[in-house]
Amino acid sequence: MIRAHIEIQGIVQGVGFRPFIHKLVKEYGLRGYIKNTSSGVEMELEGLEAELKDFIAAVPEKAPRLALIENIKTEFSDELKNYKDFEILKSSTEELRDTLISPDICICDDCLRELRDKNDRRYNYPFINCTNCGPRFTIIKDVPYDRAKTSMSDFPMCPDCHREYHQIENRRYHAQPDCCPECGPKVFFLDGEGNEVAGEPIETAREYLKAGKIVAVKGLGGIHLACRCDDEKITKTLRHRKQRDEKPFALMCRDIESARKICYVSGEEEKILAGFRRPIVLLRKREKGLSYLSENDYVGIMLPYTPLHYLLLGDDIDMLIMTSANLSDTPIMYKNEEALENLHGIADGFLLHNRDIQTRCDDSLCWVLNGSEYFARRSRGYVPFPIKADGVKEQILACGAEQKASFCLSKENYVFQSQHIGDLKNAETLENYESQIRHFKRLFDIKPSCIACDMHPDYMSTEYGAEKSGELQIPLVKVQHHHAHMCSCMADNGLSEKVIGLIWDGTGYGTDGTAWGGECLAGDYAGFKRIGSIREISLPGGDKAAKEIYRTGISLLRESGCPYDGFKNSKLIDNMLSAGFNCPKSSGMGRLFDGAAAILGIKTEASYEGQGAVLLEAAAGEDEGIYPVEFYGRAPVRFDWRPMIRHLYKEKADGTDVSVLASRFLNTLIKMGTELCKTARDETGINTVVLSGGSFQNMYIMQRLPKLLKSEGFEVYCHRRVSCNDEGISLGQLMVAQAAIFKKKEI
Ligand code: ZN
Ligand code: ZN
Ligand code: FE
Repeated sequence: MIRAHIEIQGIVQGVGFRPFIHKLVKEYGLRGYIKNTSSGVEMELEGLEAELKDFIAAVPEKAPRLALIENIKTEFSDELKNYKDFEILKSSTEELRDTLISPDICICDDCLRELRDKNDRRYNYPFINCTNCGPRFTIIKDVPYDRAKTSMSDFPMCPDCHREYHQIENRRYHAQPDCCPECGPKVFFLDGEGNEVAGEPIETAREYLKAGKIVAVKGLGGIHLACRCDDEKITKTLRHRKQRDEKPFALMCRDIESARKICYVSGEEEKILAGFRRPIVLLRKREKGLSYLSENDYVGIMLPYTPLHYLLLGDDIDMLIMTSANLSDTPIMYKNEEALENLHGIADGFLLHNRDIQTRCDDSLCWVLNGSEYFARRSRGYVPFPIKADGVKEQILACGAEQKASFCLSKENYVFQSQHIGDLKNAETLENYESQIRHFKRLFDIKPSCIACDMHPDYMSTEYGAEKSGELQIPLVKVQHHHAHMCSCMADNGLSEKVIGLIWDGTGYGTDGTAWGGECLAGDYAGFKRIGSIREISLPGGDKAAKEIYRTGISLLRESGCPYDGFKNSKLIDNMLSAGFNCPKSSGMGRLFDGAAAILGIKTEASYEGQGAVLLEAAAGEDEGIYPVEFYGRAPVRFDWRPMIRHLYKEKADGTDVSVLASRFLNTLIKMGTELCKTARDETGINTVVLSGGSFQNMYIMQRLPKLLKSEGFEVYCHRRVSCNDEGISLGQLMVAQAAIFKKKEI
């Protein structure tokens, strides 16, 4: 016999870890105790040496899938304490354990097997779930998390379900949403007019879909519009009805093999695509075709994640378009009545059910980079799983940015980032933002002692932060947009030392009141220096130039001394620029992309944000040419894009292929970024680079820039747990606020 003292660090509370240990301890015939600590759990166990060692090896291997084990420390001893039994001890951090809430996770293999088993009592039951799978976050009304405080409160358990729920060895032990056809929710199908259609609802929906109709399908975090993707005409109808002209659609594929028919899927991509969080993964299309689904090289693919999805696709529907049901930037629809009212004339039928969604949660969207998620949108499957950020002691609310709003709340080394919220300029979205902040505060029992927000005076999130800080009489920390981006990437990678931040995005409010966005900063959570940027770009018409990107094209050409009379409105814009009338200046990288896309004739008017940049990336080929990279000035040193624009213009006029020009443009920026980092290193001695900002949602750049930086001896970090775009900003804001509080306390 031997005794072991085991400490496990990571996120192991509130993820079903203790029942798991309880079962495992019994299996190995061990005795002792387990208790929660501030950093994880602590166990003391006695038993036979071989058994104990096998147990320790089995813990990380068999742990519940949401558990995040960072470290296991074990000490053995011969001095026995002769424990009689195994006990779960109460501890001071009990409260925190109760506040961790699982994200919604996809149906597990065991449940899928039962779903398909004719002899199982849950055969073909679309709400099958267990301890390891099913809805969580989206059905919770309040805490503590138990059935009565979820959407399942309307469905009392039948005796069979009740029995399973109470058996510790059952895989439905304490599974709050557990149910069966006897006691659980039901699906129903309505036609386009909202009249219930007799017959088997899922079968009817399948018939509608096969016949080329558009069906609204209620999922986990909201309602989708589904239709066939193999017929351009149907897609056109959907675009027309949804007023979504060019934005790509995501697809749901039956399995990996179906996905492979239209995309390349690497081993790393497969792991995340088929993983239990089931995000939409942006995969490279096999052919340049399918442009009616996505106009760029990637198409968003997800696998089914609820039992309902599996039943809907069956074994004969290979893939479907699955797009969020929302209209012009409003939040995703999630209520039955709302869908019936607002999708009238859009959906030909409705596959709904009577289990309410409490909280909207859009599908997550990511690329796979270096084997992990690289988010464009972090939402379902990930939220509200916290980010561990050691050193965050205060309870802080960080309000995020504007267009890709999210917020963060912190508590005891954990940061809870919200799901994707959307554009706060929209009234309904703002309302959802505010109600989600209230919901998160209640769920995680957080009473902020400080609020962080952007410096932009016109962001709705800034206004909200200022108002709340006044109301609650707590400090407001205003964080510069690109500093927040930098700190977000630092926290994402657990860094606290000083870094160089290469931050490229569309726009952010600078400390001097101008619009920034092509920035090279140096600093840490406590502050930053602006080392480099790009030459400012005049934007004729201001905000208008972000849509009518030919305006920026004209501005770049004019400034570089190139002709521009071929463009629409060139005379008018020329006049605006000469008079300096309504031509705000910006150093935003996104604007440089816009202008270049227009100059190359790739796109002159954008129908969605960042379209110019997306299409420019799609146009790029393999050419390795680079245009001259010239700088001028100091603090910040500025990249002079004029020589590059002159080359672009000339080569375009000479008839060089657009794919070559697009590559050369991107190569030049990659070289420029690397040069700026070298300047920053020379000035500060810092050798670590973090990359953040929406312009890094560009895989051409992400596959080349980190490599080039590494070849120059830099240590390079990219985002992996939060989005690189403005959705990730709230995390950085929170870290800056924590540093500000810390500094104050020191003095
Ligand atoms: Zn399951
Ligand atoms: Zn039941
Ligand atoms: Fe930004």
